[in-house]
Amino acid sequence: INKRVIKAEKMEMVSHLAASVSHEVRNPLTVVRGFLQMIEQEGISDEKRKKFMRLSMEEIDRADVILGNYLTFARPSPEHTQVLNIEKQIHKTLQIITPLANMNAVQIETYINNYKTRGDEHNLQQCLINIKKNCIEAMPNSGKLRIETSKEESDLILTISDNGNGMTKEELSRVGEPYFTTKGREGTGLGMMAAFKIIETMNGSLNVASVPYEGTSFYIRLPLIESGSSQRNI
Ligand code: ADP
Ligand code: MG
Repeated sequence: INKRVIKAEKMEMVSHLAASVSHEVRNPLTVVRGFLQMIEQEGISDEKRKKFMRLSMEEIDRADVILGNYLTFARPSPEHTQVLNIEKQIHKTLQIITPLANMNAVQIETYINNYKTRGDEHNLQQCLINIKKNCIEAMPNSGKLRIETSKEESDLILTISDNGNGMTKEELSRVGEPYFTTKGREGTGLGMMAAFKIIETMNGSLNVASVPYEGTSFYIRLPLIESGSSQRNI
């Protein structure tokens, strides 16, 4: 009976997921189709054509972000786990996020060690990108993104902080709730939900502290793998 209940719950989650994905990806698809139709019309000005093309690309990127965050749930992760060097993972995501930081005149400061943990590389990257992107978006006209690692007993602590807009108590209590966003059409409210889920799957914890107009800090705690102890041949 227990197995059946679990299976039923899983099925329900899957159908829920499928419904959300199709609903949310269909919106951008419909919008893009509309733009393509307008581009196809004869006599459309160059200016309008360019505008519709740019808007179409934005919608496609949006669909891509939505799918990326939902895939975190669909992916069965235990089989994909490997030993991950946190320093390498941070540098990889910084490469992706740097253009956005430059656009907002955000400086990046790192104080990181090559600690190791275990997890799915793709998922950890998604989590780090989601958090860093939020930090940069909270600093639209310059600021500092600070990334720091430290060690506490058998855990590694990764702290990501910004000195941006911060959150009110009410906002802070809702971070990670599906669809909670203060960014209107620009937001999906799925990034932090995925980030919490990923850290939980890695047997870690994610805590957030924030002060309005001062900034926000994300504290990620993950089980540490001591160097040399992971793959020793006997
Ligand atoms: P989105 O970024 O699409 O809005 P997220 O799940 O990534 O969705 O974030 C949810 C909300 O949490 C954001 O809209 C914002 O209000 C708040 N938030 C997250 N990170 C930060 C941050 N670093 N500074 C201020 N607010 C943040
Ligand atoms: Mg976000």
